[in-house]
Amino acid sequence: MRRFLIAGNWKMHLVRAEGMELVDAILEGSVGMPADRELLVIPSFTLLHTIAERIGKRALGLGAQDLHWEASGAYTSGVSAAMLRDAGCEWVLVGHSERRDHFGDSGEVLGRKLRAALAALLRPIYCVGEHLEEREQGRTHELLDRQFHDVLDGLAPAEMQRVVLAYEPVWAIGTGRTATPEIAQETHGFLRSLVASAYGQGVAAETRILYGGSVKPENASELLGQPDVDGALIGGASLMAESFLGIAQAGGQHTSGAQKRTGKT
Ligand code: PEP
Repeated sequence: MRRFLIAGNWKMHLVRAEGMELVDAILEGSVGMPADRELLVIPSFTLLHTIAERIGKRALGLGAQDLHWEASGAYTSGVSAAMLRDAGCEWVLVGHSERRDHFGDSGEVLGRKLRAALAALLRPIYCVGEHLEEREQGRTHELLDRQFHDVLDGLAPAEMQRVVLAYEPVWAIGTGRTATPEIAQETHGFLRSLVASAYGQGVAAETRILYGGSVKPENASELLGQPDVDGALIGGASLMAESFLGIAQAGGQHTSGAQKRTGKT
């Protein structure tokens, strides 16, 4: 059974005192969270050490927003997978649309980053998603197919099992415009079919696919209620403990898509 993964991407927000205040509130508010959900915060690089220490052995995951593909070297500003592990991370985002659009991360670069993350035993959350224009032109599946194959082709099935996918329609990120539950379900189903074709039904049934794009406590239950939506990647609403925890508590009990479709619990 797939567990919900609720991930808060803090982006380029919060200095140390603010980050500590937020993580303390999340830690306090997440005591007793149902066992079918896992929570994760993704602060900026400079906060990672501090937040890792604050979390200690408690049940809150820690991830980074990006990494460099090389292990070390003359790459000013680069942060390697080993550095992220050393800072206490278990997770890392790869291919967020803000990396693709503002920093020019290509499929080739993202493939290298994803492999560097896997080699260092980090768990990558690989983000895909179309721009509004592509959706309006009916090219969403074509684009997602390309983003999937450009980066994920050629992994061993055991490596793919450690990847989480995040469907983040770019038109929904930070815009207040959320994908309808029907759009989310249809697109997640398509992504799962790509995993099944490339890596088999077994891997596809286990792969978690998160939805991201203006998720809030008010729309989270419907989105998380879709059989192929296995969690949320949250930007704006993850910067306040109340809304992040509100999303984390939404959605009822998660059962895997196959179980939901056959009506079994
Ligand atoms: C994101 O940046 O991954 C995101 C989904 O942002 P927001 O929730 O603010 O739309």
